[in-house]
Amino acid sequence: MSKVEGTILCGKCKVAISGPAEGLTNESICRCPQCGQEGRYDKIIEEVQAYFTDTAKAALDRSLDRIASGSSFIKVTQHFSPSPREYRFITDKLPDL
Ligand SMILES: [Zn+2]
Repeated sequence: MSKVEGTILCGKCKVAISGPAEGLTNESICRCPQCGQEGRYDKIIEEVQAYFTDTAKAALDRSLDRIASGSSFIKVTQHFSPSPREYRFITDKLPDL
C-alpha cells in the first residue's frame, strides 16, 4: 500500500477525510465529513500524490526564479503555470524545498 505523508484532506473543504478506523486497505472508502465526497483509498492516494508532485514542481520553479533573479547570466524563460486541475483530495504536508 502506498504511503502518503501528512493528513489527507478534502481538496474543497480542507478538512481531514475519514475512513475506517481500523483495517484501512486499498479498497476502503474514505469520505469527507463536510461535503460528503468519497473515494476509494488507492484512488485517493493517487490523487494526493499527483497534487504533491505538482506542488513540488511549483515550489522548485519559484526557487529557481529566486536564484535566476540574482544572476545576470541565467534567464528563466519558462514559467510554471499552475494547472487548472482541481484536486479532490490533497495533503497538508507540503514538499520541503
Ligand atoms: Zn469536502
